[in-house]
Amino acid sequence: MITSHPSACARGLLRAAALVVVIVSAGAAAYVVAPRVEAQQNPPAAPAAAAPVDLHVLPVQGNISMIVGDGGNITMSVGEDGILLVDTGLAANADKLLEFVRTIAPGKPLRYIINTHVHADHTGGNEKLGPVGSTIAGGNVGAGAGVGASIIAHENVLNRMSAPVGTASPTPIAAWPTDTYFTKKKELYFNGESIVIEHEPNAHTDGDSFVYFRKSDVVSAGDIYVTTLFPIVDTMRGGNINGIIDALNRLIDITIPKDKQEGGTYVIPGHGRLSDEADVVEYRDMATIIRDRIADAVKKGRTLQQVKDSKPVLDYEGRYGSNTGFWTTDAFVTAVYNDLSKAAAAAKPAAPAKAATPAPKKN
Ligand SMILES: [Zn+2]
Repeated sequence: MITSHPSACARGLLRAAALVVVIVSAGAAAYVVAPRVEAQQNPPAAPAAAAPVDLHVLPVQGNISMIVGDGGNITMSVGEDGILLVDTGLAANADKLLEFVRTIAPGKPLRYIINTHVHADHTGGNEKLGPVGSTIAGGNVGAGAGVGASIIAHENVLNRMSAPVGTASPTPIAAWPTDTYFTKKKELYFNGESIVIEHEPNAHTDGDSFVYFRKSDVVSAGDIYVTTLFPIVDTMRGGNINGIIDALNRLIDITIPKDKQEGGTYVIPGHGRLSDEADVVEYRDMATIIRDRIADAVKKGRTLQQVKDSKPVLDYEGRYGSNTGFWTTDAFVTAVYNDLSKAAAAAKPAAPAKAATPAPKKN
């Protein structure tokens, strides 16, 4: 629970901020934290910011708001049951996020955290915020139940945050999901609405989830959909361009525009501005056109350099391209080319086995 005191706004933010600090240190002390190993910084995970940044909140619709400025976008549901966050931003910003959430939803307990995927700019605040929250537990539950918010994610997120037996874990235990799912979807009822957490296989990574708030009519899309860059394919963590396009098509299935292709279901991207279905359609079309161009070149046997020289993304470069940062245009073209080349090689029928050389005749 962020705080249990029945504070009114009028009691002032200073007191709330002081309480937050006390509770954070108490929460941290209660947990045995695994030795911190340097977070995986292989591209394309966004790098962790060095210093906290300013946060802003944008009310979306129904129970849902969007918190921006902290690595990946954060989706927040606030209502009678408390607070649910989708993603927790960067570790460097966790204290600031906690204080910010406390000031915009005073007195509300943090019940759930849902992670859309494993990257540090979406899960960095788990370690701080998880222990401070308080999950909902009913009936006869054992000691310790209700301590800390539930952290929900697809099981591949946990697999990647922990580590194969015998190797050091890349993330602290307190940051790990406490409640994973391995089926197509997981359902939840919170703040008077049903919430569907749906796995999108091998898209941005291998552990992506969409989180669909059915009554508020908002989807939190994670990094499968961003408005600032070309599709981010983390091939090192099971991502795939075709999986991203499949997932974008699924997002278009879920979303319904209100009038003249505007409004209706809102989509919170992993990075960038609030969107509706028409924005996702535009992005899906771009991803599909570029995929098809590069697939055609692969079919013709072009090398990666030839593909780069042919500038297959030229018409979209001004909108989504980048020469700096963790996801450059060059990285995107390379990832898509390698992905499609591998798929094309795998699809090729195996060469017929050579007939065994007949044994020399003995005379
Ligand atoms: Zn990501």
